[in-house]
Amino acid sequence: MPTEPDTGYDPTLGRKFIFVTGGVMSGLGKGITAASTGRLLANAGFDVTAVKVDPYLNVDAGTMNPYEHGEVYVLKDGGEVDLDLGNYERFLGIDMTSDHNVTTGKTYQSVIEAERAGDYLGKTVQIIPHVTDDIKRRIREAAEGTDVCIVEIGGTVGDIESMPFLESLRQFASEEDDEDLLFMHVTLVPDSMNGEQKTKPTQHSVKELRSIGLQPDILVGRNAERLEEGTKTKIARFCDVSTEAVFSNPDVDDIYKVPLMVEDEGLDEYVMERLGIADGALPKADRSQRWRELVTRERSGTVEIALVGKYGLEDAYMSIHEALKHAGIEQEVDVDVLWVDSEAMHDDHRDRLEAADGIIVPGGFGSRGTDGKIEAVRYARENDVPFLGLCLGFQMAVIEQARNVLGLEGAHSAEIDEETPHPVIDILPEQKEIDDMGGTMRLGAHETQIEADTLAEAIYEADSCTERHRHRYEVNPEYIDQLESENMVFSGTAGRRMEILELEDHPFFLGTQFHPEFRSRPDRASPPFVGFLEAILTRDESDTETPSEDEVTI
Ligand code: GLN
Repeated sequence: MPTEPDTGYDPTLGRKFIFVTGGVMSGLGKGITAASTGRLLANAGFDVTAVKVDPYLNVDAGTMNPYEHGEVYVLKDGGEVDLDLGNYERFLGIDMTSDHNVTTGKTYQSVIEAERAGDYLGKTVQIIPHVTDDIKRRIREAAEGTDVCIVEIGGTVGDIESMPFLESLRQFASEEDDEDLLFMHVTLVPDSMNGEQKTKPTQHSVKELRSIGLQPDILVGRNAERLEEGTKTKIARFCDVSTEAVFSNPDVDDIYKVPLMVEDEGLDEYVMERLGIADGALPKADRSQRWRELVTRERSGTVEIALVGKYGLEDAYMSIHEALKHAGIEQEVDVDVLWVDSEAMHDDHRDRLEAADGIIVPGGFGSRGTDGKIEAVRYARENDVPFLGLCLGFQMAVIEQARNVLGLEGAHSAEIDEETPHPVIDILPEQKEIDDMGGTMRLGAHETQIEADTLAEAIYEADSCTERHRHRYEVNPEYIDQLESENMVFSGTAGRRMEILELEDHPFFLGTQFHPEFRSRPDRASPPFVGFLEAILTRDESDTETPSEDEVTI
């Protein structure tokens, strides 16, 4: 008898989809609501994945300015994607691929390529059915092998750009069993001048959804507070759902508490009931303990970290903020991030740098603010302040060593100063050849070999690590011996590539050519971040435990 191919999911359960749309305005935390729903299903024992649909024309997020869009998140396969995928990876504890970020650019590109190849056999190529078929195919393929796939449609219902995607969802609804699909609409429930929760904007956005043939099954109302019963009843009445299908999602001090918030309202139970999977769920008592324990863990104190960057926008460094939070959970401390504008390092922002317990110089591109970053590295090195340099930050540490320790005047990265007499950071020769052919960045997960008896080995507790990359420039091999002649050690390498650096005579000075922040998870904090916080905490302890003589007062 022929057997079903093993796709890794229970075929009797069938594949389920939860489509999440947004109403009224963007920035409501739709992605976090969707990811939290996914987390609850994962807590209940289901295999959950997610797809983020971005209705923009960019093929991927690689070319997007972090100031406008927040950071470019990097997946293990090298996909440069929207930062929301980072939230899904962190909430669901999974590794995604670029196929999980569907953009208008990607779908149009493949439809147009197929048209040029003659695949449509002379037919007129149209948004319906060709583009919508491509969208549905992508969503179904990304969901393959899982129990539940959460599909978040970026933007707000009513945007011209999201129309082909919403039309695809409408077709989905007619192609799949009702029990296999759920439409969740996340919308704003603002307060009136006198503090009353207003449902009119929600009514309008649901009306808009229905005009394109989509009826939401679940409504999640965003307000600073929980929705009042009267508000829920009103929404239910006007939007044709039952009151049990209207949920609150009030503001919380930490995004990782959102799953617990919506669980309190019974969102998980309702979703499982509607999808017909409640019988397959783990007993309630076994579900959220681990997550609850993580996000409510007691903290003893707060450490302050200076993040020396050029974008004064939290989203531009989102994964670093999250990685610090995860390391904070592991080390049981709260972490406050002080943003230090690398262009204002000689003004007021220098005070912030000096007030911090540790310094991070993050990744970046271009020359703006690099002098300030090099100055911050110097401050950390000379004052024994724990330091973590990530990608560009690693490169800045190499330049600082070359200039201020080795006296190589004018040393720089060829990216920033093409005429530098000492290109300590350069495009590798083999990379240059590729570059002539329109070469591109080194992206995604690559393995690094770690040298024994180094700080890197101590924090990774392993002789290798695999982390994600996004860079074009690297340490110039011609300078390695010189750079290592004074305290600096390249303790992680990948062939001729220098991946990790550290200083021997410093409490904690670590740079990585890769971005460890992209692999960090709430329950699997990134080793360099954990080591960094640990060094700060040990340093603080020794400060208080062994006061120097002149600090002892009689
Ligand atoms: N601009 C540097 C390079 O291309 C660093 C990149 C980064 O920090 N992500 O190598």
